[in-house]
Amino acid sequence: MPTHKKISSVSELHKFLFEGLPVRGMVVRLTDAWTEILQRRAQSSTGAYAPPVQALLGEMVAAGALMQSNIKFHGALILQVYGDGPVKLAVAEVQSDLSLRATATVQGPVADGANLSAMLNLKGQGRCAVTLDPKDRLPGQQPYQGVVPLTDGQDQPLQSLAQALQLYMRQSEQLETTLVLAADDKVAAGLLIQRLPIEGAGNLEAQGEQSVEEQQEHYNRIAMLASSLKREELLTLDVETILRRLFWEEKLQRFMPHAGETAPRFACTCSRERVGRMIQGLGETEAREILAERGAILVDCEFCGAHYRFDTIDTTQLFTTAGDRPPSSSAIQ
Ligand SMILES: [Zn+2]
Repeated sequence: MPTHKKISSVSELHKFLFEGLPVRGMVVRLTDAWTEILQRRAQSSTGAYAPPVQALLGEMVAAGALMQSNIKFHGALILQVYGDGPVKLAVAEVQSDLSLRATATVQGPVADGANLSAMLNLKGQGRCAVTLDPKDRLPGQQPYQGVVPLTDGQDQPLQSLAQALQLYMRQSEQLETTLVLAADDKVAAGLLIQRLPIEGAGNLEAQGEQSVEEQQEHYNRIAMLASSLKREELLTLDVETILRRLFWEEKLQRFMPHAGETAPRFACTCSRERVGRMIQGLGETEAREILAERGAILVDCEFCGAHYRFDTIDTTQLFTTAGDRPPSSSAIQ
């Protein structure tokens, strides 16, 4: 059905529950947050993404925002896909305040219309990793990471990111999830439907007299409605229209959307201090070799395109004063 409704130009994320049923849902539409990522890439030395890579990365950003809001994790949710195809690595990172960034490293030509498998999983080495990196990580504490292959139980390559993430949710969170994702050069959007964990399994009254079978039927019905949403509809329709068309027979309990001030938005976490720590990590010998060869250490942020330059004096400071200055003055501006 064609639509002539005006699409809002700001990013938003909406949460809802199916009243009386153990099912929740979420819709995200990233407009300005997504185009900012694309524009920064187009202006970088690597240039704009090929359309299939753009679509994959947009779907990752939309999925990352949905997953971060779903678990409300205090820290960064990092979604990565990597493998043995022309796309070496794609990363989407979403913080708990829904600020987000994304980048992809492409090492070969990507054919028009290439799917997930053609981009990342030519020889079955493709993986999808979800990392939860706590904001205030204690010394020695490791981020949590879950990894799934980009193949199904029968070793068949998965065709889409949504399939890989549904697999991840089932394996790592034991939650049945339906995801519809889509992205183009203007919008990155996603719909998530998830069966809520049953509290106190066996206690039927907790779910209003519904048997486990009945609950499963409700989830199946809602999941099927969600799956009927077409890519094109997800990209072009506003959130209200999507929810009305899919779930007009269901009772939805809506929550305050993340829009305006609290909307998902682009932000990069890179800084000169972090780049300095990375150079310290290289070690003084290697840093001096780069200086001797190129005159300065130049680092470009892959996520936002920021340029960082460390000359001989900056680099000497990194390796001579790191240990004997108080931490507050160790940031190099
Ligand atoms: Zn950056």
